[in-house]
Amino acid sequence: MSCKVFCTYPWKQLFSDSYGVYMPCCMATVNHPYNGCWHSAKSDFPAPKVNEVSPSEFFYSDYMKQLRSDMRGGKTTPLIEKVCANCINEEKEGRKGLRDPQWYEPLGRVVQVKLKIFGNLCNLSCYMCRIKDSSSRIKQTEKLIQIDPEFGEMLEYDKLTDEMKHGGVSYNVIEDIKKLAPRIEKIYIIGGEPFIMPKHYEVLDALIEIGQAKNIVLKYHTNLTKLEWEGNHIFDYIKQFKGCDINWSLEGIREQNDYIRFGSNWESNLQNYYKIKKHAKVWGNVCASSLSILSLHETEEWMKSEGLDYSINNIQEPRPCRIDSLHPKIREQLLPMYRNTKLESSLSANIENWEDRWAELLRYLKALDEINNTDYTKVFPLLNVE
Ligand code: SF4
Repeated sequence: MSCKVFCTYPWKQLFSDSYGVYMPCCMATVNHPYNGCWHSAKSDFPAPKVNEVSPSEFFYSDYMKQLRSDMRGGKTTPLIEKVCANCINEEKEGRKGLRDPQWYEPLGRVVQVKLKIFGNLCNLSCYMCRIKDSSSRIKQTEKLIQIDPEFGEMLEYDKLTDEMKHGGVSYNVIEDIKKLAPRIEKIYIIGGEPFIMPKHYEVLDALIEIGQAKNIVLKYHTNLTKLEWEGNHIFDYIKQFKGCDINWSLEGIREQNDYIRFGSNWESNLQNYYKIKKHAKVWGNVCASSLSILSLHETEEWMKSEGLDYSINNIQEPRPCRIDSLHPKIREQLLPMYRNTKLESSLSANIENWEDRWAELLRYLKALDEINNTDYTKVFPLLNVE
């Protein structure tokens, strides 16, 4: 099999996005029913909705079988060219796509369930969060729009569905997940904030009931603000599963955390971290943004002192949250600390319209301060440039 063609994702990932639409993986190019969303219609590969087709029907559909069969053939086919266009383009331009080019077909208990099926309920309004992923951010954006309608465009409020504006849809897929359970290796619980999504506990209960939980690893992306919700305590669940991986979203410490991840409290997060790390493997997950970069060295030092493994992602949207929206003087000041890292290009970028971008960032922070009753100039003194 050619490494250029084969990818394990169609075998191992069962994926649906925030719009409740199935895809072979998060990078695939499909016939997405929501025009204008990130995955706008770019190919005719079927992308049914979760409320129309069950997870197993999608996973074992003729079109998914055909994609796997083409990949097995070892040669690029028109089907692979269209579905995998994003990865192919990334690789052509010398970057690493998402493709997972193993030399063998994954067999047995290999399926990683990554269905965004529990809604977008979230208790925080993090300034850099894509609003489709947080019910609180959507409410906050509605207030921002009252201050200036341009914030709606900037944060892509018009791309939300009515369901997303009301906490998202929670799909009833329990019976189907039970059928798939003997093939499930890992189940990703994606929010919103997963620990406060009641429906996901019902799926966990079902897997425990049929005796499959002990073979399945749980994976959470969480803000660690709550370990218990409506009588469901996460530790009671973790101990019944094979394991639990926690990706803790962490953009700063102390008051920087409380500003960026608005609605959270650093001391309380810390207590939850110390509790949960006794039960699960925890990773820090940092979004490098125009605010988190200002104290990233302290955040990193803290994570290292805790022995906490972490990853850093350089975010591109929303625009004011990009590192290259910062004033050039600030980026220049930070650059020596991040030479030869993936953040260097954002810090050294020559932005032609930097004055507009910087003004947009300040406008955004001022509007957030008005709504949240915060003061960015006190929490991030580096932003006070002349
Ligand atoms: S090559 Fe890329 S687009 Fe194709 S299945 Fe793999 S990860 Fe998805």
